[in-house]
Amino acid sequence: MKIASRLANVSESATLAIAAKAKAMKAQGIDVINFGVGEPDFDTPPAIKAACKAALDAGKTKYTPASGIPELKAAVCAWTKRLHNVDYSAKQCIITCGGKHALANAFLALVDPGDKVLIPAPYWVSYPEQVKLAGGVPVIVTATLADGFRLNPAALRAALKGVKIFVLNTPNNPGGFAYTTAETRAIADVLREFPDVIVFADEIYELLVYGGRKFVSLPAIAPELKDRTILFNGAAKTFSMTGWRIGWALGPVPVIEAMGAVQSQMTSNPTTMAQWATVEGLNNPPPEVEQMRAEFEIRGKLMADGLNAIPGVKCLSAEGAFYCFPDLSAHFGRTIDGQKITGSVSLAEALLEKAHVAVVPGEPFGADAHVRLSFACSRQQIQAGVERIAMLLK
Ligand code: GLU
Repeated sequence: MKIASRLANVSESATLAIAAKAKAMKAQGIDVINFGVGEPDFDTPPAIKAACKAALDAGKTKYTPASGIPELKAAVCAWTKRLHNVDYSAKQCIITCGGKHALANAFLALVDPGDKVLIPAPYWVSYPEQVKLAGGVPVIVTATLADGFRLNPAALRAALKGVKIFVLNTPNNPGGFAYTTAETRAIADVLREFPDVIVFADEIYELLVYGGRKFVSLPAIAPELKDRTILFNGAAKTFSMTGWRIGWALGPVPVIEAMGAVQSQMTSNPTTMAQWATVEGLNNPPPEVEQMRAEFEIRGKLMADGLNAIPGVKCLSAEGAFYCFPDLSAHFGRTIDGQKITGSVSLAEALLEKAHVAVVPGEPFGADAHVRLSFACSRQQIQAGVERIAMLLK
């Protein structure tokens, strides 16, 4: 059977593939430490679960409007106003089956064949693949660890020519950095020079910043970009609701309507009771939200310090999201325990098979010198996992 040519250059999600492999090894009784997928180990807060149960008991088990219930759109708009003092109306909001789905809808709604989408590397694995699925061409501009993965404004300016969409993700997956207000402002200054460029601002990690940092949303910093910015967000990271699959986008009405048309033909509404549960989370954020952030901060420091203590490993201190993205290229070219290490993929394989530590290779994030480790797991696992990595690389 011939698979459609639009899939010829599209790969399976590396983050989800590692998650599946680590789970399968665990099921075989292997003691795997999983730094793979970015998924908080905390349970969803009880108040949010209770709201879901109440919705079920109240018979909220039917279709909703394809673009989401008005109550959740109102809650998203109120949350965005409260956090960032940016105004959106319900018409400018769509509820989706996770942040990833919001992005996919938006690429399908805006990308024509051959359209260029500028993505700073390192990038989240799904951006380029979604662009290709929509018929577009991902264009990569690279930032390095030496610059704290920050995009140089001059490099951005040079790369923006002829581009239709620019993807900005801060706090960043996989880089673990978060732009300061001044840095976001510098990016906004460059974007202002390109009035035709549409900005996708993926702010899913908005609450996960550390070291006293404060995250400021792009349209809050640059209101004049708001009319051509689409904000992406979701419940997964903030409320530890990964499996519930609730995300959203905020943006200009014609784009949100086009995304709604895509969604109404592809999936219909996001799961009804999960939408009601998210209304509760957004309207009455439970204390667990800040407790989880504070714990991630401790874990991030533990992991970054542990990794930096290993010879030949260079890692940024964790500023945001829940990832360390160390450079391990000093170990490339070695043969470890009989396995030749040629790049991030073979190194990740060796770590999984020989040390039973699951990490995601940097190659699908556009940075083969690196591997990604999620610190959304316990302190004990971080300590034990980093020790195993140190042992293997010794
Ligand atoms: N964003 C998370 C990660 O990168 C979730 C998994 C995914 O959809 O990629 O691990």
